[in-house]
Amino acid sequence: MQPERGKKFPEQFFFEHPHGSQVSLKDFIELELPEILQLSSEQLKGSLERGNIKFYNEYGLDAIQIRKSIGQIEAGTMVCLGQKVDIIRGFPKIRRTLMLGPALEKHFSQKIALEEKMNGYNVRIARINDRIYAFTRGGYICPYTTKKANQLMDMEDFFNQHPQLVICGEMVGTDNPYVSQYYPEIGQLDFRIFDVREKLTNIPLPVLKRRKLLEEYGLPPVRFFGIYDTRNSAGEILDIVRKLGEKDREGVVIKDPDMQIPPLKYTSSQAHASELEYAFSYPFDLGQPFFFSRVIREGFQSFEMGESGADMQIRAQRIGESILYPMLETIRLIADGKVAAEDLEIEIDSPAEADDFVRYLRSLGVIATVEEVKNGKAVIRRLHQSTSDKIGNFLNGGLY
Ligand code: ATP
Ligand code: MG
Repeated sequence: MQPERGKKFPEQFFFEHPHGSQVSLKDFIELELPEILQLSSEQLKGSLERGNIKFYNEYGLDAIQIRKSIGQIEAGTMVCLGQKVDIIRGFPKIRRTLMLGPALEKHFSQKIALEEKMNGYNVRIARINDRIYAFTRGGYICPYTTKKANQLMDMEDFFNQHPQLVICGEMVGTDNPYVSQYYPEIGQLDFRIFDVREKLTNIPLPVLKRRKLLEEYGLPPVRFFGIYDTRNSAGEILDIVRKLGEKDREGVVIKDPDMQIPPLKYTSSQAHASELEYAFSYPFDLGQPFFFSRVIREGFQSFEMGESGADMQIRAQRIGESILYPMLETIRLIADGKVAAEDLEIEIDSPAEADDFVRYLRSLGVIATVEEVKNGKAVIRRLHQSTSDKIGNFLNGGLY
């Protein structure tokens, strides 16, 4: 039986268990999975009933996709079935600090490791049943990312020696269908690794050990600023973040060198502004969820950086412009009879790949179409429907 994606969980679905017998998925979830994931059978059953566990069957992989966290098990965890049961845990959320100085001292022990935070999208790469797959945040295999990651990096040796490890990193660059940002050292598309974790336990390697391992295999790490004493490092980190911001770079992630304490993130004013700019290009689709948190970050950053006078004014102007200008541009566009849409460009080898990618986006609930296929590139148009509808309505005198 070939169950449909995203539909009710196929209770009668049987799979070839690594032990050699045919096992029903339902039995597997209720009887075996609790022990593997150290959850109770009731927890898993409850999740299954609420629709938070889905059967996933794409690109030759049968898996159980965990869409909402269950106890310690993160959303985006994939239980991959096949030659053996392989668990790729979801990538943990990274909390944010608003006041660097006090947060560092409260959160970390004596030392911290500082790395650059790259602005792209989170990808976990693992070898499952002899194939190397790239998973996006929610635990979906992205066909584009899987293909590109394999072209950009030679991971064969690494996975031959370390089949139990998962490479976690950021896909970055302009040819990036999710978060497109230009970096001079990256250009169109590249990958930067910020974590290496164990399958099943999700235990990360210590920072320096991870960096050394990546170097041995010629795999590309994120930029490393060094190990610092936690006390009194805030000033230096603020300087680094200020300089990163001046180059329109996103910020930093601060880590426990042993990776036993969860990391924290801290971002530049320019990153906040550029996210606001994006959100307010589509105000009725993205404006609200983006707005409040970015403005709050700016308030605390300005305070901690001790700004006054001109510095403060530059910041105020940057936030204001990043909200008002893109919104005005979109209002003008709709007034001109156009629609609010964003065009993403991806490299493809055949038109089918573009269709595949759109099908994947739609499965995530995104309204997208293939706009154009030309010279090995596809333009994918993503529509922001509420923005078009609402602005159109207000332009015609509709009331707010
Ligand atoms: P979340 O905090 O849940 O990940 P988010 O999508 O808002 O949510 P970001 O604000 O971008 O994520 O911050 C966390 C993400 O930053 C990580 O999931 C990872 O993809 C990315 N990242 C980039 N560089 C690093 C780095 N050096 N170390 C860790 N994560 C990094
Ligand atoms: Mg990000």
